[in-house]
Amino acid sequence: TRAPQMHSINPANGETFHSYDMHTSAQVDQKLTAAVTAFQSYRCTTFAERAAWMNHAADVLDARKQELAELATQEMGKTLASALQEVEKCARTCRYFANNAEKFLADELVHTEADQAYVTYQPLGVVLAVMPWNFPYWQAFRFIAPTLMAGNVGLLKHASNVPGCALAIERVLIEAGFPEGVFQTLLIGSKDVEAILKDDRVKAVSLTGSEGAGRSVAGTAGASIKTSVMELGGSDPFIVMPSADLDAAASTAVTARTINNGQSCIAAKRFIIHEAIYDAFVQRFVEGLAALKLGDPLLETTDVGPLATPQIRDDLHAQVQDAVEHGAKLLLGGELPEGEGNFYPVTALSELKSTMQVWNEEVFGPVALIFKVHDLAGAIQIANGTRFGLASSVWTQDDAERAIFVRDLEAGSVFVNSMVASDPRLPFGGVKASGFGRELSRHGILEFVNIKTVSIG
Ligand code: NAP
Repeated sequence: TRAPQMHSINPANGETFHSYDMHTSAQVDQKLTAAVTAFQSYRCTTFAERAAWMNHAADVLDARKQELAELATQEMGKTLASALQEVEKCARTCRYFANNAEKFLADELVHTEADQAYVTYQPLGVVLAVMPWNFPYWQAFRFIAPTLMAGNVGLLKHASNVPGCALAIERVLIEAGFPEGVFQTLLIGSKDVEAILKDDRVKAVSLTGSEGAGRSVAGTAGASIKTSVMELGGSDPFIVMPSADLDAAASTAVTARTINNGQSCIAAKRFIIHEAIYDAFVQRFVEGLAALKLGDPLLETTDVGPLATPQIRDDLHAQVQDAVEHGAKLLLGGELPEGEGNFYPVTALSELKSTMQVWNEEVFGPVALIFKVHDLAGAIQIANGTRFGLASSVWTQDDAERAIFVRDLEAGSVFVNSMVASDPRLPFGGVKASGFGRELSRHGILEFVNIKTVSIG
């Protein structure tokens, strides 16, 4: 009998262009053993050695940029231009942690009654990464760069619809020269994650994905007493106050909602607009959305490509229909196009109510939800009135307003007069149902280390 397979299916036309045998449990077991063996020597390598491999990984990413980007576009439908930017960002992040890990993890002397006391940061061992398809390289590399630079070894269980990208990442790191077993991709389904995480050879887990996956994997990690980082869904607010630069706010809002074909955890999803500028903003915003070109993601002229899977399109359309049936006003889009591929039109809805699914759920596609509020307190109430708390974007020129937003928004970040974006120099993560722990920056590299206290004499 054949091993079960994973398939690469082009979301622009529904064609299966590659199939891969999934790893058997015996193969997974061998890879776990190989990871443990690799850790024994890798943990003793110097920062300089790891940095050389990590910088080389960046060079390989740069050299392979076009081929990697085309693969991502074919497997999950993001535009080629955005896939190229994604690979470049991965290379930058490899270099960032290659250059900064030693400084971030330097011993810290502490004055106590002892002759000498210090804190030293040591790797934990084998860390499992469970990753989503939406930024197939970036999600993996923002885990890989800090985790491997800290001296851990990694196993990647990537989303089932991007097996080609998952294997390409492993090849990049092998070509970069990392010793055998330091990073391995597992072609397994989500039901296999629990047993691997419970295995004594695995010490920690990082998951980026939906709230449901987070509840399941965080539950297993908790029951096994293993540390975890959870980067989950978001329903980020984009708040516009009367003092804002409306042209800049509206054009940024268009990008912030439709980036990655609308399938980003930190995409702006709820546009919360002060009544004084509501009509002026909405006119500009909807005009900007309407001007976007939906089409083949390989073409330079395309702004928005197809959704990654037919299921995502069905779920999104059901959310939109539920809202319209319950009285939402459809300002743009909302009709399923004819023809092949998982295309969904850029859509805008207003007059939303708390009984609608879109009020409480993450909307993972190019659908903007627009809210009108009377004042700042009303804006914060709507913004915080969700289970999620990933990021937020606020548009105001008023310093006092800004201070209140920074203090009161329940989110892992507040970006003022710009859209939310991840950056290797800044911590990234959420509160509430958006998860816990942080990736990137010094905070990210500290997630998977043993913070060891040493006290002498
Ligand atoms: P997903 O369905 O939760 O899948 C994410 C990963 O988890 C995949 O590898 C998936 O494997 C695995 N998985 C799913 N259910 C699991 C379970 N019960 N046990 C173990 N593993 C499980 O999410 P997605 O559709 O790929 O990605 C979209 C979601 O990710 C959105 O909610 C988005 O907001 C979130 N996201 C968050 C961030 C962040 O940084 N906070 C970044 C990007 C995306 P299979 O593919 O095999 O099912």
